[in-house]
Amino acid sequence: MEVIIVGAGIGGLALANGLVADGHRVRVLERAPGPRADGAAVTIFSNGAAAAADLRVPLDGLGGDVETLEFHTPRGRPFGRADLRVMRRRTGYGVATVPRAAILDRFTGALPPGTVRYGCAVSDLRVAPGGVTVTGLAEHADAGDAPTRDADAGDAPIGNVLVGADGYRSAVRRVVLDPTPASRNGWVSWQGLTLALPELAGGVAARCLVGPAGLCGLMPAGGGLLQWWFDVPVPAPADRPVLEWLRGRFASYAEPVGELLAGLAESDVQAYPHVLHQVPARWGTGPSTLLGDAAHAFPPSQAQGANQALEDAWLLRRALRTPGDPVTALRRYERIRSRRVRRISRLAASEITNAPPAAPARLAGRLLPSALTGRLHLATIRRCSSVLNDDRV
Ligand SMILES: Cc1cc2nc3c(=O)[nH]c(=O)nc-3n(C[C@H](O)[C@H](O)[C@H](O)COP(=O)(O)OP(=O)(O)OC[C@H]3O[C@@H](n4cnc5c(N)ncnc54)[C@H](O)[C@@H]3O)c2cc1C
Repeated sequence: MEVIIVGAGIGGLALANGLVADGHRVRVLERAPGPRADGAAVTIFSNGAAAAADLRVPLDGLGGDVETLEFHTPRGRPFGRADLRVMRRRTGYGVATVPRAAILDRFTGALPPGTVRYGCAVSDLRVAPGGVTVTGLAEHADAGDAPTRDADAGDAPIGNVLVGADGYRSAVRRVVLDPTPASRNGWVSWQGLTLALPELAGGVAARCLVGPAGLCGLMPAGGGLLQWWFDVPVPAPADRPVLEWLRGRFASYAEPVGELLAGLAESDVQAYPHVLHQVPARWGTGPSTLLGDAAHAFPPSQAQGANQALEDAWLLRRALRTPGDPVTALRRYERIRSRRVRRISRLAASEITNAPPAAPARLAGRLLPSALTGRLHLATIRRCSSVLNDDRV
């Protein structure tokens, strides 16, 4: 089968690897001039790691292992601890925070040369019963250049199946599903990945401090790198440098928050507004479909967006293995995944982890054994996982 994937993010590249392994002819059209180097790191849980391994691109050896996740009050008092080692024991796959660039590098490096065409922005498609034609395609030789070529009817890419893996501003979604953009919910993550706080960065424990100013998260990401983020329910003021504003906002939080902020430069911090799509039961029309953020963007508060993109890729590959009309298999894939993703999307949209817990919840958090908290976390992940439940199309 000839498959066109729009978007070389984590989801699109994972799918490309699985499909190439199954003998499909795959082309990935990516708007950016080269692999993305920004985007800090993402935490890959057991479900995402299992999906990647089955798609023939295991993430072993990348990033920093995370064995415990601790929640603290702004004063630094612990009120919850999850032992995440239970995930590896029960699924065979652990938890790691991995620089996004390292994942993309591994996924791209495993593909036959030329599979990904960079500098190709897709803007329009024609979907017919037998296939999909990319009718709007602007090719750029380098970042910032004017388009060198627009696809015309003579050489437009055509596939038996087309997958929109082009993120939350998906052009494919606009054409094949719904022009309504993902909506913002008011929260913003100020995030970065730097060499900082060596003791934390070199360990296996992640820490979140949650209070009225917002959440500060600190995760080891391997090689001395620390993934840090500040989730706040308001935009930064336009008239002040962001770092100065963050330092003031989180001034009352316990160390090492102040130490981290003191050591950062303005260019280290990137803003990511939280966005949300409604998750419909159908993600495409005819032989077209979506995966990852293009289908179901949701806030990063459960650290599952990339994991769910990997889950989608895993089940979509399985769907395209089934004999018969791919259109039927695509609709089944969408039904199964939409049911699972909706659960985690709702939880993430509630931003529950960013809200300072009331006293009874803090007490319960202190009393719960960390192994039990880890098991509860795994149960949440299982409910939104196709790969851990061996879903069949
Ligand atoms: C602050 C923050 C922290 C996060 N932390 C985590 C985490 O810890 N764990 C986790 O699992 N998830 C996390 N996520 C979510 C995760 O980053 C996304 O869910 C994931 O990247 C989605 O992958 P994707 O492949 O669907 O889309 P994307 O990564 O958005 O990739 C889409 C690709 O499509 C390309 N593209 C876009 N438009 C076009 C076009 N018209 N033509 C061609 N190409 C196009 C883009 O350039 C891009 O390369 C986080 C998100 C944020 C914002």
